[in-house]
Amino acid sequence: MPNIVKKTTFPNLLDLLAPHSCRSCSRIGKPFCDRCKNYIILEHENYCPNCKSLNPTGNCKNCPLLPPTFVVTKRGTIIGDLIHDLKYNSVRALAKPLAELLDETLPVIDGKVKIVPLPTINKHIRSRGLDHTYLISKHLAKLRGKNYSVEKLLLRKTSSVQVGSDKETRKAQAKTAYILNEKLKIDHTATYLLFDDVWTTGASMSACLKLLRSAGAEKIILSTLAMSTLDAKS
Ligand SMILES: [Zn+2]
Ligand SMILES: [Zn+2]
Repeated sequence: MPNIVKKTTFPNLLDLLAPHSCRSCSRIGKPFCDRCKNYIILEHENYCPNCKSLNPTGNCKNCPLLPPTFVVTKRGTIIGDLIHDLKYNSVRALAKPLAELLDETLPVIDGKVKIVPLPTINKHIRSRGLDHTYLISKHLAKLRGKNYSVEKLLLRKTSSVQVGSDKETRKAQAKTAYILNEKLKIDHTATYLLFDDVWTTGASMSACLKLLRSAGAEKIILSTLAMSTLDAKS
């Protein structure tokens, strides 16, 4: 069967023909089983991805300029493998369990919430057949209910890739990599939940945070699935 069909047209049928097995414990059924997912939720503690200290409330005392920031886990855990499989092997079915981990570990947010995924380079979306941060955001909005929506408020301007670049290069690239989607207006009553899959140096998140603030967003929360535990090369 051609790859394109496998990825997009008959996912449910293919699940039946070739059932998933859990990336962590190999149990047949789902690509990430509920038992392994619940283990991560039970073990979850919030850390500040910027200064790496324990940050139970999300408001890091060492980093007063950061808005409330929530991280599911450290990089190097199974979540890193799940993100990798979703992103590079186009295992679409992993978006839902990753969104469930966010749903279980993010606080309750009152009022209207707009999830803003950090945008991926268009060329990568085309070659992978999916937009992973958008897909996870859509699942999260569905799990959280009618007050949540996904808004593509940020767009990718350049196609510079950050993988492997050092901290200063990443910072310089990130400054020019994103722009605001001029078609959309800021809703001053909403909380903007800025979401990225992985926090490495924080350069992308910080560039996007600046853009959202410059557009007038007042209530902002940062969210990521996995953070790097090592200081990035400087
Ligand atoms: Zn498992
Ligand atoms: Zn901090």
